Amino acid sequence: MHFRKLVLGFGHFMISVVVLLNIPSDFIPQAKYVFNYFGNSWGLPVDIIFDKNGEAPIHVLYGFRNEALSLDGAVFIPFDASLYDQQTVCTLCDCDGFAALGKAGTPDTGIDLVASTFRLLTMVDEHQIDSASRDKLGNFFVDALPEGRRRSIDLPLVDYYAAFLLDKLLALTPELRSNILPRWPHGKKFAVCLTHDSDLIHMGSPIELATAMVKGFVRRKRVFFDMALEGVRYLHSPMNSSLWGFSGWAEYEMDHNIRSCFYLPVSPRKSKRRLNDCKSDVFVSGVDWKVFQSMQKQGWEFGLHPSLDAQKDLEEIVLQKMAVEERLQAPLMGLRHHYLAIDNQNPHLTFEKHVAAGFSYDTSLGWQEKAGFRTGTSLPFRPYDPVRKRAFQLIELPLALMDTYVMGQGDVEVAIKAGRRIAKLICDVGGLININWHTETHCSKYIFLNYLTGLKNILEPLLKDNDAWVTTPMQIAEWWNYRNKELQRNVLGMKNICVE
Ligand SMILES: [Zn+2]
Repeated sequence: MHFRKLVLGFGHFMISVVVLLNIPSDFIPQAKYVFNYFGNSWGLPVDIIFDKNGEAPIHVLYGFRNEALSLDGAVFIPFDASLYDQQTVCTLCDCDGFAALGKAGTPDTGIDLVASTFRLLTMVDEHQIDSASRDKLGNFFVDALPEGRRRSIDLPLVDYYAAFLLDKLLALTPELRSNILPRWPHGKKFAVCLTHDSDLIHMGSPIELATAMVKGFVRRKRVFFDMALEGVRYLHSPMNSSLWGFSGWAEYEMDHNIRSCFYLPVSPRKSKRRLNDCKSDVFVSGVDWKVFQSMQKQGWEFGLHPSLDAQKDLEEIVLQKMAVEERLQAPLMGLRHHYLAIDNQNPHLTFEKHVAAGFSYDTSLGWQEKAGFRTGTSLPFRPYDPVRKRAFQLIELPLALMDTYVMGQGDVEVAIKAGRRIAKLICDVGGLININWHTETHCSKYIFLNYLTGLKNILEPLLKDNDAWVTTPMQIAEWWNYRNKELQRNVLGMKNICVE
């Protein structure tokens, strides 16, 4: 897509938001990272300076204020080193009328919103989770989070901060308003993308059958035997099974004139299989790749759904990516890990593998079992690399809403309400509603009863909304990269210096 044609105003000279940093040098990379994030959220180029030089206007002062720096026309954000600290205990506060994560005991107006943003985007509070509350792969449930973060799991706090700061900026410098780049193309107010993790490719594969039988006996539930029977019935023709959701989704999405992305599972190529890895993959016999190739040509996207141990092993990720690309005859640009199992103690170690493997975006950052905002934002962003102290060349598309988050209780009305609630929160901040409904749930039976009804009731009102940009994840990642480059170009053009 050629975005330039879609947006009026791109390319003309823009006034930058000038941010003066008066903080200890150790914190400068983190602050630059956060202001770059804010610039992308606001749609304004941000120019970082370290000294008040001459009469040039300063729009934001972040750090210590002293007599020489009493800048009346600037937004002042106080600096608090302790809010960058992993061990600092944070609480959910009311800050000028919106929710914020701050250090316990800080006056509400004194919260360092830059540090709080850094804390949320880089998931700092998760370091306080003890190892007993994590599984072998480091995954955890939200109950294990420290209290302040646990109470804010479904609030897009960072989006609130960005909106609050932009309001203040525009009140003090109204001329910035005409410079704002639209957040989404076509004048849309928020974005929606539908994605499908594909966990169950062939019910008739030996491990699927064995697992269903064991679950049937242990849980004393007939539904697992029924699934096993379906597996046996389509032993040699998995694509005819109702659990083969690809064709059902393709038909549904064609009817609604949308396209989605499927994340395809691959069994470990060299690392060991784990119990919870997908029990069948896209290389089982009976899968006709011409179907995927044809869908890809018609606008559907395919990404990788790596096995559990892949997070630790670049070669494993590359082998899985190449295996799918070879059969699909198209590159995979994005991925979402099975069980969202990135390295949850050191997420950057997984992100650097994504970059090295040649992915453009990841979409694995969501809570294990609850809808909400693991990084405090519903917007795309580039994750932080703590080693090189700058953003990765990778877009993260946060995952806010997944089928299992809301469908698990079995009451479809409750699920629809919960899904619509999250969607509304995101609409209100102009974010990205990134939805994951597993491929195999299209059948809407067995253990996936009512799943399709749930999705339709959450998604279809959004499809009818003229303010929604409904598109695929790669289109969103490309748009976000393009827009970021435009913002950087304006800063570079003005200052001719390298701005990270
Ligand atoms: Zn999965």
